[in-house]
Amino acid sequence: MHILIKNISHYVGQEITLKGWLYNKRSSGKIAFLEVRDGTGFIQTVAVKDNVSEQIWQDIEKTTQESSLEVTGIVSKHPKKENVYELQITSYELLQQAVDYPIALKDHGPEFLMDNRHLWLRSKRQWAILRIRDMVEMAINEYLHTENFIRTDSPIFTPNACEGTTTLFPVPYFDLGEAYLSQSGQLYIEAAIASVGRCYDFGPVFRAEKSMTKRHLTEFWMMDAEGAFVGHDENLRIQEGLVKAIIKKCLENCTQEFEILERNPEPLKKVLEKSFTRYTYEDAIKKLHELGSDIQYGEDLGNDDEGLLTKDSDVPVFIEKWPKSIKPFYMKIDATNPDRVLNDDLIAIENGGEIIGGSQREDNFDLLLERIREEKLPEKDYEWYTDLRKYGSVPHSGFGIGVERMVRWISQAEHIRECIPFPRLVNRLKP
Ligand code: ATP
Repeated sequence: MHILIKNISHYVGQEITLKGWLYNKRSSGKIAFLEVRDGTGFIQTVAVKDNVSEQIWQDIEKTTQESSLEVTGIVSKHPKKENVYELQITSYELLQQAVDYPIALKDHGPEFLMDNRHLWLRSKRQWAILRIRDMVEMAINEYLHTENFIRTDSPIFTPNACEGTTTLFPVPYFDLGEAYLSQSGQLYIEAAIASVGRCYDFGPVFRAEKSMTKRHLTEFWMMDAEGAFVGHDENLRIQEGLVKAIIKKCLENCTQEFEILERNPEPLKKVLEKSFTRYTYEDAIKKLHELGSDIQYGEDLGNDDEGLLTKDSDVPVFIEKWPKSIKPFYMKIDATNPDRVLNDDLIAIENGGEIIGGSQREDNFDLLLERIREEKLPEKDYEWYTDLRKYGSVPHSGFGIGVERMVRWISQAEHIRECIPFPRLVNRLKP
């Protein structure tokens, strides 16, 4: 009977078959320990030379790292370790021998590993991160539905930009000239909320910024959510709820992954216990000055500033109400102070950096048009967007969360390139 390693605990004492790959092998010549993985987990399988046929022993000897195999045996509980199982091999088939697998179980340089990303994905660490990524995406979809958001999705080819064209990738588009790869679906889901109330899109977005940091990809996955009749405070509540839901789901389901990554879950548990800190942009700048930063009022926060602001915090920190002058045209002006907008950035703890950017959107036709003109954006291209303020405009807000930023924080990966199966970076397009 073929079973999955993740279900092994139900089969103690029984003979079962596993199908997978060899992760690692040790052999004394009389007894062989083969660590097998099948995608759902890892298990030690054991063959004693005297107890198996000559053919099986030869096949085991020929099995190299990453060879594919089918192994049958009796499941036993590890004599000392809790929740650890072994398989005493009774039958064995080498499906395909992997000759000279290039990635050994030792340290390799990052460029080598990136060149071999198609194989590197099989390592335990990458397996754990892929699974955390899946859990993050699942949690996002689940939480949003509990908050009555439905998934609508946005186009990837777009004729205009959310925030100017300097960070866009152009693509030739038949007789219609140039299209751009979307850098956010926000404007489109703003249209969709007038149909369904609350919605979100979830897909790849593209940024042609030459940012060579550990937190920037040129292609990353973003979830944009937008809600009709959602004001600034409600927007923050939804964001906090989302981050907590993601963390809760990972804590519940990723114990093994955290162990593999040597990720201490305690700081994540603490995040669930308290409300997130809220600073206005102005207070954040004051606080940063107290902490020794030389940031000027009106500047965006750098990596170091984000680190400083969260270093003693158990919970992520919202920085809200930024100067209008450094934020995009669609953000709603704060009625209590016309120089600032009703927006927020959410900064993760443990050097996770910015994970969410959100805002209440300008819902007044005249004010929105004024902002488009001030920013010298092509008015005609935004006609469909300003239309939304002509036909039943309502207060509304939304935000975008970067999946890989979230995965990076939760998995404590040093570099974001490990947080997406095939990273696209300024200097990396392969494999
Ligand atoms: P940053 O200041 O870090 O470059 P941003 O202010 O440009 O980010 P937004 O436009 O608000 O980011 O995008 C929303 C979210 O998408 C961010 O909070 C972050 O989680 C994620 N994100 C933005 N740019 C990138 C990128 N280049 N690579 C990976 N994730 C990103």
